[in-house]
Amino acid sequence: VHTEVADGQSPDNRAATVAAAVALLRAGETVALPTETVYGLAADALNPDAVLKIFAAKERPRFDPLIVHVPTFDWLRRVARLNGEDSDIASRLAENFWPGPLTLVFPRTDLIADVVTAGLDTVAVRMSAHPLFSDVLRAFAKPVAAPSANRFGRISPTAAAHVLDELNGRIPLIVDGGPTTHGIESTVVAVRGANIEILRPGPVTRSQLSVFAEIATTSTGKIEAPGQLRSHYAPRTQVVVAEDLEEFVGPPNVRCGLLVSTGKTVPSGFAEIRRLSETGDLREAASNLFRCLRELDQSGVDLIVAEAVRDHGLGSAIMDRLRRAAAAAGPARQS
Ligand code: AMP
Ligand code: MG
Repeated sequence: VHTEVADGQSPDNRAATVAAAVALLRAGETVALPTETVYGLAADALNPDAVLKIFAAKERPRFDPLIVHVPTFDWLRRVARLNGEDSDIASRLAENFWPGPLTLVFPRTDLIADVVTAGLDTVAVRMSAHPLFSDVLRAFAKPVAAPSANRFGRISPTAAAHVLDELNGRIPLIVDGGPTTHGIESTVVAVRGANIEILRPGPVTRSQLSVFAEIATTSTGKIEAPGQLRSHYAPRTQVVVAEDLEEFVGPPNVRCGLLVSTGKTVPSGFAEIRRLSETGDLREAASNLFRCLRELDQSGVDLIVAEAVRDHGLGSAIMDRLRRAAAAAGPARQS
């Protein structure tokens, strides 16, 4: 397959690019589209053959369910079953945070193809605020399934070039909408009784959610979300998280790259340094996280040292991604 990268940003090309994306979705093909979090790989959620192409392009295991993106609010009730106290809370979350970077897990209806939810009786639903994504979806007028547009287990793409890196030759079209705003994947929550359970931390933080219900601290321990797999978001290069950089001693004769969240002075000896934010701003840091990890991965260092950030607010989402990147085994994993 030839992979075309189409400009979705300039006023001259935008309409044609949106039309091309919609035509491919109607034809049962996959299209990479920008969202406000990361780039997604979309296909018609009501067409199982189309959805299977997402799994094939990503080499994603079939047990790993996809997020369903809806074009309008009325689609929520068609794909999800809302009743009872939990759906009151869930609907209020949707009303407050949609369109936006929050994914809600609901009991499902039969409308969505089984392959989308990996056989689960729940469906994860989101409504994107990205103007290109929502224009494509409204023109398509149906929900799409869209996980991140990377090969399984790898770093999520935050720019069209990253998608090309990951999926060149596997998908027909990448819509280039420039770098994404948040830079990390959506917050995924399930409402259980009167509690909100955070399945994956993200741009919508725990304190923002706590306005609507108690945040459940207990976890079933069962993997319900692939983002919960311990090893995920992994560069090829091994990653270690350093709580205290001053104390970090690299192994001898190893070229180390450094990922640091602020503009502060760092110890000498690092071959490559990437800073997430000069001012230590967590929004900016999150938006740069995957790009910087990708750059360090491609810089030829042997080890990536990522300085820990405070595990609070958006910092929790950043730490979640860093821990999962570090949980992968490094080069051997790639065999
Ligand atoms: P991604 O490839 O980053 O879009 O990952 C898809 C995410 O969707 C996973 O990490 C899960 O958190 C979430 N997800 C999809 N379907 C479900 C579901 N039925 N229950 C729980 N989480 C889900
Ligand atoms: Mg993903």
